[in-house]
Amino acid sequence: MTQNIRSLSTYILMNKAFINGKWIDSLENKSFGILNPASQKVIGNVPDLTIEQVNSSILLAHDSFDKWKKISGKERGHILRKWFDLMIKNKEALAALITQENGKTMKESLTEIELGASYIEWFSGEAPRINGDILTSPKREKQLLVFKEPLGVCAFITPWNFPSAMIARKVGPALAAGCTCVLKPSEETPLSALALAKKDRKKEKQKGKNKSFFFFFNKLSQEAGLPPGVFNVLTCSTKSNSDVGKLLCTHPLISKISFTGSTKIGKILLSHCSQGIKKTSMELGGNAPFIIFPSADLKKALSGLIASKFRCSGQTCVCANRILVHADIYDEFARLLKEEVGDMPVGPGNDPATDIGPLINKAAADNIEALLEDSVLKGAKVSAGGKRLGETFFEPTVLQHVTPDMRIYQEEIFGPVASLIKFSTEEEAVEIANSTPFGLASYFYSRDVEQIWRVKSSLHFGMVGINEGIITTAEAPFGGVKYSGFGYEGSKYGIEEYLHKKYVCWSV
Ligand code: ADP
Repeated sequence: MTQNIRSLSTYILMNKAFINGKWIDSLENKSFGILNPASQKVIGNVPDLTIEQVNSSILLAHDSFDKWKKISGKERGHILRKWFDLMIKNKEALAALITQENGKTMKESLTEIELGASYIEWFSGEAPRINGDILTSPKREKQLLVFKEPLGVCAFITPWNFPSAMIARKVGPALAAGCTCVLKPSEETPLSALALAKKDRKKEKQKGKNKSFFFFFNKLSQEAGLPPGVFNVLTCSTKSNSDVGKLLCTHPLISKISFTGSTKIGKILLSHCSQGIKKTSMELGGNAPFIIFPSADLKKALSGLIASKFRCSGQTCVCANRILVHADIYDEFARLLKEEVGDMPVGPGNDPATDIGPLINKAAADNIEALLEDSVLKGAKVSAGGKRLGETFFEPTVLQHVTPDMRIYQEEIFGPVASLIKFSTEEEAVEIANSTPFGLASYFYSRDVEQIWRVKSSLHFGMVGINEGIITTAEAPFGGVKYSGFGYEGSKYGIEEYLHKKYVCWSV
């Protein structure tokens, strides 16, 4: 199985950037390596593009916009639908690549490909339904019309925790709307983004015609029918991030920036965007409360928590971060959680037995160690796990008696640590839940209908899961409030982020 996964992913590994339908190297011949977080071995090298190359990709995406926006919505929808079909057809190989560069388990990687593809599918259906409006005029001689038009070239900056789905859910609505895309994936995980594009035909021939996977991957974005310049993937190293980010946010030919990442970088990008007067969507950090009230079904709450907390080894912006448990059920729930967590195998993501894969890099594991040290020093108790294993692995951990003075209470953990906080009243739980500057996802478990209605109204978050730990789906709007950002991804609202409403007043 391990060998299988490795060979599946090497079929689709690309070591060039993708601009205007061509695979290109850095003009300065610079490249950077991508590490497998489990083995710490380099699995591929990609070009570190120069700022001139980034600039020229924007010009080319702008040239392509004129043609792409004129293709009918129905036809754009057909192309996206073909892209979806190709992703699903090749999901094992695409998933294997995610596991290689991100570390998450193969099961999670497959779920990610299905999730990403579902956004492409959803927006393939939205493309032919971009309808304008006719408004009632106050004057008989004037007709008031609203046309929805694509914004132009959209730039995307994406993180490493969903190397494929995060891209699909930005690119899907943009392409459906008639925009063209310049994507800068995370320098930790650019290979999955490149795999969504296309495989080099020449290389395919050199390596032999009997390798059917080459044929499949030759057929992703381009085989689906996306014209050159419509979807571009820029690979840039950590060193270039700041210059490239600034260029994208201030370039006159970029119409929109959509960013997913930390609040810290989001703020920097927003300040650049104020210079460039850009429309923006920001999906920033979270600090999700997960509240368990006394009437909750504890087994359901436990499985919801495990799914929400330990997904991608705890490295998602919607992972449960502060687990608030009512005093009446605290001891029982802590015991159940400890038992469950103690049984979760840690290992490389390509081992089918693994539940908890590695963290993305050594720095991430260092951070978890520091958070735990700070908590224990201030009185928290580790009741399960707590140890770093090698350079990037960390045992799934249960931490009790967490208090507001601890860093782990205030910060997004981004690791497999479940931190438990005891509460006594509903008001107290809601107050704690709302007490950070973040407002992305929140969760609570209760079977008291009146309480459910009150609490869902009081939580100041963009998303609320009630008796459910996994809430993301293409059909629903994903987005936050407060320091977690603004804008919506997915759903019937998602495409509006890529359209402007042109008002026409026609005197007749
Ligand atoms: P994370 O901590 O989850 O990696 P970041 O906000 O650091 O989140 O990174 C998210 C994305 O932002 C990545 O693609 C990264 O390369 C990019 N990035 C990081 N620093 C900058 C910067 N100064 N300007 C523009 N993009 C950046």
